Amino acid sequence: MNTVPPTGSYVVDIARDKVGQVMSCDRSRLRLRPVRGGLAWGSELSNIRQATTDEVLSAKVKAANAESGREEVSVLTVIRFADWAITPETASEAPAIVHELECTTCGAISGADEDFETARDWAFRHVRRTPSHTGYREIIHRFWRATLVR
Ligand SMILES: [Zn+2]
Repeated sequence: MNTVPPTGSYVVDIARDKVGQVMSCDRSRLRLRPVRGGLAWGSELSNIRQATTDEVLSAKVKAANAESGREEVSVLTVIRFADWAITPETASEAPAIVHELECTTCGAISGADEDFETARDWAFRHVRRTPSHTGYREIIHRFWRATLVR
């Protein structure tokens, strides 16, 4: 990169293959920080390029997932339409995944709970009461968030 990127903008540190936010620039020496905060690192202006919107979004989703300990199975999925992107919900108050079990014989439902064990315990009680109801279907709810991408 030949020009100094503005403070707060996102760049890719080519040497580290990592997206960072520009905190400061002293001559050709940059201070970068991870997209969702954390330990800053230094890089040379010659080692960076401007990050694309997708790269920034991916890095944010990845960091959010790492924080919540969530699996990255479908989390890197970014559904885009025009200026909107839909990614797994990362708000701290939102449950990661909610489980329910439904009896395939009578359609009774355990009710939603963040712990699969709660739904499983319901199924144990249900089959004890009605021993012929041995089939269950798990319903998993995963929450998503649409965000406007600049
Ligand atoms: Zn049943």
